[in-house]
Amino acid sequence: MSSLRLKGLIVSPGIAIAEPVVHETKHVSSPRLTLEVDAIDDEIVRFDSAVAQTRERIQDNAQRAATQLGEEYAAIFDAHDLIAQDPTFLDNVRSKIRDDQVNAEWALERVIEKYAAQFQSIEDDYLSGRRLDILDVGGQILHFLFGHEQLDVKSLERPFIIVADELPPSIAVKLPLDKVRGFILESGGPTSHTTIIARSFGIPVLVGVRGACAAGFKATRVIVDAFEGKTVFDPDAAEVAEYENRHREHEKHRALLEAHRNLSSETQDGVPITLMANVDLPLEVDAALHWNAEGIGLYRSEFLYMERSPSLPSEDDHFEVYRDIVRAFSPKPVIIRTFDLGGKKLAREVMGGEEGNPVLGLRGIRLCFSKPGFFRTQLRALIRTAAEFPPGCVKIMFPLISCLEEFLRARLLVEQLSEELRGEGISCHDSIPLGAMVEVPSSAVMASALARHADFLSIGTNDLIQYSLAVDRANELVADLYRPASPAVLKLTAGVIKAAGDAGIDVGMCGEMASDPLMVPLLVGMGLRRFSMNPQAIPLIRSQIRRMDTTQNVEIAARALKMTTAREIEEFLMEKFALSLARMKIQL
Ligand code: PEP
Ligand code: MG
Repeated sequence: MSSLRLKGLIVSPGIAIAEPVVHETKHVSSPRLTLEVDAIDDEIVRFDSAVAQTRERIQDNAQRAATQLGEEYAAIFDAHDLIAQDPTFLDNVRSKIRDDQVNAEWALERVIEKYAAQFQSIEDDYLSGRRLDILDVGGQILHFLFGHEQLDVKSLERPFIIVADELPPSIAVKLPLDKVRGFILESGGPTSHTTIIARSFGIPVLVGVRGACAAGFKATRVIVDAFEGKTVFDPDAAEVAEYENRHREHEKHRALLEAHRNLSSETQDGVPITLMANVDLPLEVDAALHWNAEGIGLYRSEFLYMERSPSLPSEDDHFEVYRDIVRAFSPKPVIIRTFDLGGKKLAREVMGGEEGNPVLGLRGIRLCFSKPGFFRTQLRALIRTAAEFPPGCVKIMFPLISCLEEFLRARLLVEQLSEELRGEGISCHDSIPLGAMVEVPSSAVMASALARHADFLSIGTNDLIQYSLAVDRANELVADLYRPASPAVLKLTAGVIKAAGDAGIDVGMCGEMASDPLMVPLLVGMGLRRFSMNPQAIPLIRSQIRRMDTTQNVEIAARALKMTTAREIEEFLMEKFALSLARMKIQL
């Protein structure tokens, strides 16, 4: 057995060796099984029972949608239910099982294919869109037929490495992350949400690894080297020994950082810097506490949906999750961002359909406004949570604000809902700190206006870079154009920091740039004092800050802001900081 090496782009550093588990979404199909004649009736019963389970789930979701989103939204599920009880559709599957003597999965997939093809050829946007509904319902019936999630890794006892063509965050959050040692992905980008989650769990990730799935299917063991950007499928004994060694070294270095756990994050010249944690899944709260985060600077509440999808969380579901997180940190603040669904974080139950260009579409706050029932449920839960703790413990932040009107509208809604809750006898705080994410260039340009109305701002560089440079953050083909050190991005960032300072409000950063060791000194030099990052990054950045001198960084920032290309800035920062980072064993 000879080994195979494939290269990839490093998006989350580390080394791992384990068995590969392949998740290929291009086409997951079931095998054709020929049945004995006397097994056919049982197979049809099995199919009918999967259909009944699917209908139960659809009706349950319709009911939740009706109460949370409004009747109009529940209509999507009603349309699904009509498909799931359509006699022609069901009889086609039953006949196929009987006539071809095949298993229900195979028969169903062939019938779905036929229907989907018919709908696709119709030149009517509405009807061709129904194709999605057929695929959705078909997928749900298949799910019950298989009797498990298509990627059934939950039951795996051993550590493994996921090898996938595409791994959307909705699937990533359902993985047993304590067993996942690495991701080898054919697609993805440096700040795609799957990458962000992986970083948070210290999982090494390579993206853009062409041919990974084909290699993964054949291999029994794989190495991810996310320091040098390579993978080795079926490594020989010497390679395994070498990587086991390097892995141990890496672990030893991380263990040394434990020593910084309880130290303050103050620079050499006595400037305190606040280091907070980004949390996507409640599971990460322990790591944030372990590394002594000074609160949560970004709780991505949308993962609550993605984790539970297709069920919709109720007001109490929201409330309980938020309350537990805030309780773990109180009196330190927890900034809860209202759901930022849409874009690549699709949740069909919320979106209701596909968009041609979702990243510029109904995403973030826009989606919240378009589903008032849905937004209301979350905001009521947030206001109730805030009321359980001293003022300031809960802060609410709105995603993808692109103009002042959106922020004002969100503020008004919080005030109206607080009144509504008071009317129901629930006491609420007079005001809850409300913040805007600055992640769209228009908001960065208008930051001073926003700063006059918001209680705090948080710079979301993942999107700010994507939108200002027109580079898809999750596309490996343009990953080399995704440059945090771009002069345009730095100018926008510096402008936001200044606008907040002038207005006397708090400003932080919660994009991945906030944990980039090359950028942190520059940002401190620009005047940023609050950084929020994945919990695993805190010890490293803390030890970097403790060696820092702000006066020197102010000069460096002033010089960098005069430069005109990303390359010039990157080389300048490398020249200034590479040596000190190497001393700290920080790999860039
Ligand atoms: C950002 O855009 O920088 C951000 C923190 O939000 P998200 O990564 O969830 O889009
Ligand atoms: Mg964002």
